[in-house]
Amino acid sequence: MQDLLIDLDNTVYPEDSNLFAQIDLKMKSFISKNLNVSLDEAYKIQKKYFINNGTTLRGLMLYHNVQPEKFLSYVHDIDLNSIKKNKKLSNELKNYKGKKIIFTNGSEEHAKRVLDKIGLDKTVENIFDIIRADYIPKPNILTYQKVIKEYSLDPKKTIMIDDLPNNLKTAKKLRMKTVLIKKNFLNSNTYDFIDIVCENLLDTIKKINKGII
Ligand SMILES: [Mg+2]
Repeated sequence: MQDLLIDLDNTVYPEDSNLFAQIDLKMKSFISKNLNVSLDEAYKIQKKYFINNGTTLRGLMLYHNVQPEKFLSYVHDIDLNSIKKNKKLSNELKNYKGKKIIFTNGSEEHAKRVLDKIGLDKTVENIFDIIRADYIPKPNILTYQKVIKEYSLDPKKTIMIDDLPNNLKTAKKLRMKTVLIKKNFLNSNTYDFIDIVCENLLDTIKKINKGII
């Protein structure tokens, strides 16, 4: 039996539900208000820290002494109406007997709200969030080592599912199986550290239950 590490944003719900777009905007306005810069400047800072530090929050903590709790509650205060219950996904996940762990750079509170909205709150009970990761985000290998230890995972028997290739690169270094969630992905040979590309999480879990992955 393999265990599953499942990313949250843009993985358990589709990218086109525009939830993450809302979080993106909230981050920009948080930076603008707290660093006293224009929205354009805030956006540049946001993306710079995301690229250089794994998450925007990490950069804000390192260089501006931002309190993480304040940032997380602000950026996750969003409207979840665009995400719907997903009965098929919850049934498919229920049938899977391995460990199911949400592995997210967001907060547990946000993860719980999202899982509740999709109807996965009873199915997926393990959440390893950015707070438990001591605010060191994916793709930093230290955080993967921490989640492995916490849940006694065997990386060779673990499947990591994420919509960001970079996060899968670290997983592959640790010898996990890797699944990229991407709609309309044409060239699966682009990244040698990705084992399979699936359209969405439902498709992924179906394949895992059938033994294809
Ligand atoms: Mg994601």
